Amino acid sequence: MKTFCGRANPTTGAMEWLEEGEDYDYHQEIARSRYADMLHDKDRNVKYYEGIRAAVSRVKERGEKAIVLDIGTGTGLLSMMAASAGADFCYAVEVFKPMADAAVKIVEKNGFRDKIKVINKHSTEVTVGPDGDMQCRANILVTELFDTELIGEGALPTYEHAHKYLVQEGCEAVPHRARVYVQLVESKRMWSWNKLFPVRVEAEDGEKIIVSPSEMEKCPGVPSVCDIQLNQMPLSDFTILSDVVTMFSVDFSKPVRSASTCYRVQLEPLKSGKAQIVLSWWDIDMDPSGMINCSMAPYWVKSSSSFQWRDHWMQCVYFLPNEEPVLQGEKVYLTACRDEYSLWYNLQKVREEENKADVRVESPVCRCQAHLLWNRPRFGELNDQNRTSQYIKSLMKVLKADSVCLCISDGSLLPVLAHCLGAKQVQCFLGNVLFFFVKFFRANNIEDKIKIIEARPELLSSSHLEDKKISVLVGEPFFTTSLLPWHNLYFWYARTAVTSHLASNATVLPQSASLHMMIVEFQDLWRIRSPCGTCEGFDVQTMDDMIQNSLNFRESKEAEPHPLWEYPCKSLSDPQQVLTFDFRETVPQHCLSTEGSINLVRKGKSHGAVLWMEYNLIADISVSTGLIHISNEKGNCEWNPHCKQAVYFFSSVIESETSSDLPSAVTYAINFNTKTGEISMDFK
Ligand code: SAH
Repeated sequence: MKTFCGRANPTTGAMEWLEEGEDYDYHQEIARSRYADMLHDKDRNVKYYEGIRAAVSRVKERGEKAIVLDIGTGTGLLSMMAASAGADFCYAVEVFKPMADAAVKIVEKNGFRDKIKVINKHSTEVTVGPDGDMQCRANILVTELFDTELIGEGALPTYEHAHKYLVQEGCEAVPHRARVYVQLVESKRMWSWNKLFPVRVEAEDGEKIIVSPSEMEKCPGVPSVCDIQLNQMPLSDFTILSDVVTMFSVDFSKPVRSASTCYRVQLEPLKSGKAQIVLSWWDIDMDPSGMINCSMAPYWVKSSSSFQWRDHWMQCVYFLPNEEPVLQGEKVYLTACRDEYSLWYNLQKVREEENKADVRVESPVCRCQAHLLWNRPRFGELNDQNRTSQYIKSLMKVLKADSVCLCISDGSLLPVLAHCLGAKQVQCFLGNVLFFFVKFFRANNIEDKIKIIEARPELLSSSHLEDKKISVLVGEPFFTTSLLPWHNLYFWYARTAVTSHLASNATVLPQSASLHMMIVEFQDLWRIRSPCGTCEGFDVQTMDDMIQNSLNFRESKEAEPHPLWEYPCKSLSDPQQVLTFDFRETVPQHCLSTEGSINLVRKGKSHGAVLWMEYNLIADISVSTGLIHISNEKGNCEWNPHCKQAVYFFSSVIESETSSDLPSAVTYAINFNTKTGEISMDFK
């Protein structure tokens, strides 16, 4: 079987599809999967076990045989719980082949071979009958098919099908029901992930304000979920406008309908303010009584004693199509619409005629095109006025009235800034969605001032530049295909490609970049990559081995991107600059490598290294895409909230209890391969 894997090529800035051979076997997917995180989720596991025991007893009390259907068995965990609780037989269905194979091994190792049948199929392909996958319909339905949005992994159609074809009427379901909660808030910070705020530019000839086209004001954006670790959002970053209310619930023991629908609730604002954001999370009751409850409520709603960190279930941020002023005590109506896989929200001031049969649910479509060009962190970055002012200060230093300026970055505001600051001629490559920029330039009356070049940098010709030479080459740099921090070094490759068009004394901004590194102890993130051993008494080491095997496969032993503002950590070493990239020169033929050691200055568990890029715009102004600062003597770190940093998890964790037994240093070898644009690394 051939597998195609998408990968960005950092030397061309383009997405490429790599064909993987027979031996590939989904290593990347397994190495980066969420199974370990789920198995470390004690709260979830304990409550599933309690719910399953209760369901098996209820069936037994009725004098029936307990026949379990476990859809999406993964490691087989929930089926093994059911078998231990006394179920007579379990059908464990898993669509992902490597996992189904692992489940077979785990079930056997734990001695449940006679009680559990693993079926490697999608549940909708499972057959029932004497010659079928299942001998008969089940009377207990166990699943864990939920994502942060509850329904995003297709739980509803899977349940709908299972009730029609795979389980008996009146079956017991674990979980029994789910409830989705909402809370209305105002938040400049979160709203900045969805709309472009006016950008202030202090130019020599006075202040100018860059505005967004009016289409963006009313644009509902894109339907993809914004899921974050809301527990890392301080209360000072938002204002609560309503109580928490239940938006809707789903009873999994009854037939489930997956067809699109709407739900409406009435809210009475606790405060006057601007309704912008709906925060949302869910909980599940494992049994009908509601006594066994597993909740994703954030810290300001839930008592800290029941707190469980997890990354596979977080909280959702939904953006209302436009901000709506609300008055304290003056009722408003919040509507949630959903299709089979996603949810979106609207706010109304008056109660609309409720005509259920007539509900036309249309998922939001971005009309302004900005939401297709910029994702949420990118909106946040472009709205960061502090960051923008660093670029403005730098541009002011290098631009002259007769500058011929070329900008290379995706969806960047730099060409507009350069124009506002007086550059005579500004050209830019803008990536896709040029139509948005046409509207954007028009909204700012500069459509004839900036020229968009619809060619790749390698194909730049002097006719694009009206036979002039480029005097100032600028980039943020930012490219949408970048996954890891150093992928934005594509700027260096593009700069190299346009070398023949540069004037002899041309300025390149940023003039250089540097790679920085620090050793850290994570508060929680370590869980997602740490072995489980046993889970609720079941041996799941086969799963650990499988992940380790995938990590060792070819180049999978690499750093992975994480937005660290969501994942607290403390620094165990000082930050260290490990490589520099001089954009004033072209990309060299040879690799750039470095070796060295980094001293540990605090005690703690060395979970891994964090790496990020800093861009030196001009000699004395730089911007960091990683560490902002280390806040106290404990070493708590503050990270750039708009960027993902690279995390390299060490294969074994080094722990130091006292300062005397501190391992003094971690040694590293880092290599930037100029042919591939990738960085490989090794630590000891
Ligand atoms: N039950 C395990 C794993 C849950 S993860 C546990 O609780 O630890 C969900 C799993 O369901 C994934 O492995 C996914 O591949 C599988 N899955 C999702 N929908 C499915 C379906 N309709 N049929 C079969 N497998 C499904």
